[in-house]
Amino acid sequence: MPNLEEVLIAAGEPVLPLYTCGREDCARACRAFEIEVVDDQWVCSACLHRDRRAAEPAPVLTMDDVRAERTARLRICDWTQLEDVPDDVKLPAQPYRQALRDFPETLETEHPDLLDDDVVVVDDICALPWPELD
Ligand SMILES: [Zn+2]
Repeated sequence: MPNLEEVLIAAGEPVLPLYTCGREDCARACRAFEIEVVDDQWVCSACLHRDRRAAEPAPVLTMDDVRAERTARLRICDWTQLEDVPDDVKLPAQPYRQALRDFPETLETEHPDLLDDDVVVVDDICALPWPELD
């Protein structure tokens, strides 16, 4: 069965936002496909997504995640070490890349406060004191 929006489109009627998200802090104007009824209230897809995220337990970050992030950060700048890259790009990247390789150990030796055994005590892995390229 077509929804209201499909009926309007078929009739050549303008498709305007038809529903208002019932959450007071949102009140977003939505089209039919962007909204659902939850507990007798219109709730937009963005609010529903936020609800689902809030209901999930916070991810537990471990040293494995740190090593994976370290490897990803190294990969992003692998190109700086290619043969045809000039030294003024290649050389400054080297201490940064070494600091990245050392980072899991640096974290354990210099920031033990950020670790609880193998678990990293930050919500976001990017909040760790990662080395930065000068
Ligand atoms: Zn909303």
